[in-house]
Amino acid sequence: MDTLATTRADCLALDAADPLGAARDAFELPPDVVYLDGNSLGPPPRLARERMQAVLEREWGVGLVRSWNDAGWIEAPLRVGAKIARLIGAAPGEVVVADSTTVNIFKLLSAALALRPGRRVIVMREGDFPTDGYVAGGLAAMTGAELRCVAATELEGAVEADVAAFCVTHVDYRTGEMLDMHGLTAAAHRVGALAMWDLCHSAGAVPLDVTAADVDLAVGCGYKYLNGGPGAPAFCMVATRHHERLQQPLWGWMGHAAPFAFEPGYRPGAGITRMLSGTPPMVAIAALEAGVDAWLGIDMSAVRAKSLALADLCMTLVAQRCSGLGIEVVTPRDPERRGAQVSLRFADAYPLCRALIARGVIGDFRPPDILRLGLTPLYLRYVDIYDAVEAIREVLTSAVWRRPEYAVRTVVT
Ligand SMILES: *Cc1c(COP(=O)(O)O)cnc(C)c1O
Repeated sequence: MDTLATTRADCLALDAADPLGAARDAFELPPDVVYLDGNSLGPPPRLARERMQAVLEREWGVGLVRSWNDAGWIEAPLRVGAKIARLIGAAPGEVVVADSTTVNIFKLLSAALALRPGRRVIVMREGDFPTDGYVAGGLAAMTGAELRCVAATELEGAVEADVAAFCVTHVDYRTGEMLDMHGLTAAAHRVGALAMWDLCHSAGAVPLDVTAADVDLAVGCGYKYLNGGPGAPAFCMVATRHHERLQQPLWGWMGHAAPFAFEPGYRPGAGITRMLSGTPPMVAIAALEAGVDAWLGIDMSAVRAKSLALADLCMTLVAQRCSGLGIEVVTPRDPERRGAQVSLRFADAYPLCRALIARGVIGDFRPPDILRLGLTPLYLRYVDIYDAVEAIREVLTSAVWRRPEYAVRTVVT
């Protein structure tokens, strides 16, 4: 991107020449909103409306129970998993859609301990997304495994010969910092440990190649950059080399080798199917599939180039237009070290965020002092970034964020 492009007219010119400009038409977005929270909940793809209608009226409404066979419902977890596999660089049979990220972390960490008998340490990162640590803590309390939580800079050193696996987020939810997937995975393998990556802020956000990085296990979220809808099912990935010895504790009939044989004893299904537990949530998977299909034919390197350009524009404009207003960029400037968001630090970030939302600029707040702006090139324009930074500047200079109503905490921030 031309780094001198910092007027609104420059941004409009960039939008006119944007090879991804037409991708926005695939989404339903209100006209008066700048949506910078697709890293928390992606907007509905137009395809989702059609798919939801077909599911409700034809598949569920007319097909009824026959649709498990006739409408491809029963294969949906693997079919949609294979589509997600393409986005993260996994092989088709290595990814399945199931449960939530939280539940999948439990299943995969249990599997990691079982794959490395005799080792009982799980390494995690301090300050990582809380649910990851909570669920690992619960597993440790249940199994006697030990959690070793360290700063990101200490991760490599903390993975020693007693470690079964590390489980860390590839792109940090708060700062947008991206870790070195290749380097840390290789370091874990040198001591015989497994590498498990949480891809919640990476899948659909940055180019990924879990095969090239030799990743063992991964989880990720369906409702953020994949635009699968609120509470969409998550995915889990297991490298083929582990399938034969793969065990997870939530033995359910959908992960059984023959679910409809109704056998009294559990026999795990082939490969990744044993990561399934209960009946797939078909309505939700249909919406997720529409979200994933919106990525078909999209060139991820073009997405990455635009997301970096949007972030550069954002950081440059904040430096130029908001200097002296008490706000600073915390996301690393180095493109190798950041994902697809810009995080700004401001002492009163919560009321600032609320005041911006009142103006139609939707980002989110993460404690204690972070305003997060998610950059999603499929439906964001350069001019949106310009308008968002202008809104930040006006809200700060007018001090409108000090209004008492903006200090009232909502349940979801
Ligand atoms: C969003 C997110 C989750 C969410 O987990 P759910 O089970 O979907 O609630 C977990 N981990 C990370 C890193 C996330 O960003």
